[in-house]
Amino acid sequence: MAKLLIRTIPFILILLVVSCAQPQGTLPEYNQQLSIEEQKIQNQLFADSWLKTYIDVSETGLNILFNAVDLCKEEDQIFGIGVDIATRYDGPEAIRSELTKALLLSDEITVVATGINTPARNAGLKAGDKIIEINSFAAPYGIDANAEFYKTIRESNDKKHKLLINRNGQDLVINVQSKKRCRFGYYVDLDNNTFNAFADGNYIALSLRMAKWLAQDELGIALVFAHELGHNANRHVDDKKTNMQAGAGIGLLLDMIARTQGVQTDFMNMGANMGAMSYSIDYENEADYLSVYAIAMSGYKIDDAANFWRRFAVEVPGSIYSKGGSHPSTSERYVRIEKTIKEVYGKINNGEKILPN
Ligand SMILES: [Zn+2]
Repeated sequence: MAKLLIRTIPFILILLVVSCAQPQGTLPEYNQQLSIEEQKIQNQLFADSWLKTYIDVSETGLNILFNAVDLCKEEDQIFGIGVDIATRYDGPEAIRSELTKALLLSDEITVVATGINTPARNAGLKAGDKIIEINSFAAPYGIDANAEFYKTIRESNDKKHKLLINRNGQDLVINVQSKKRCRFGYYVDLDNNTFNAFADGNYIALSLRMAKWLAQDELGIALVFAHELGHNANRHVDDKKTNMQAGAGIGLLLDMIARTQGVQTDFMNMGANMGAMSYSIDYENEADYLSVYAIAMSGYKIDDAANFWRRFAVEVPGSIYSKGGSHPSTSERYVRIEKTIKEVYGKINNGEKILPN
């Protein structure tokens, strides 16, 4: 083995020298201007891809925030209708103009997504709708429209709202009754390298890479979103600055995210952090336990919930044997979740309300 290595060294050196030499051939002419045009095309493609993933997270996340509301403490419950909205001032700055193009955003409020099984979805609101009036008053408009809209809905509590919307140039009235939801917001960052999800007491955050991987499977986004909701709902972050207002405006209000396409961590560390914030293993087990209840309450078929942890193990094999640290091993998580699924089915079969013990 050593002999072979010694014999190959000169060849490696020759290769290195050769590869440092100047190219001999004549390349086709390179046009810098075309490259700049191409950058725009590629950034639009990236923005479209981010948006598709974000909408998946939004539809699923809103479903869980509304339908698992009983998991949240009363002071963490607010009223909402289940829409994710944006104007041209929203979204991560690096792709804001691309999003404006893709979603035809303006100063008016545009519906970006409606959550599955939310008042908005059930009342017939659709992505692309422009909200013109709320209860016969002009809808918020311009740079603060996003925050003002959520504030209006939140503060009017259990109220029926008459929305005048414009859909493809036609005016339409939609009546929608607001409902209780967990107050937490959510976002998908632009980080396509790290495999990460976390909850900080106000938000549920997924890295783009994590969200895209989760979206390959029916339960993926739901289960991880529900896990992070479990951390927030049971106050695993003792955040003294908890701002009751914070969660109401949702994910497209992304200005606060500093980490965009900048510094990335080592690809080999991928998945070491299902939760960049370190909780104790007990908290992780509780969040897993609550996640099964949250997705059952939100209408998902929970049978495959345990299998998710097998998929995770294949993606992040280091997590199979993990001991100590902040997270239980995927094998422990699988076994515990199997047990929880049985518990939930026991309640369903007895006609009991689906609520954790
Ligand atoms: Zn966790």
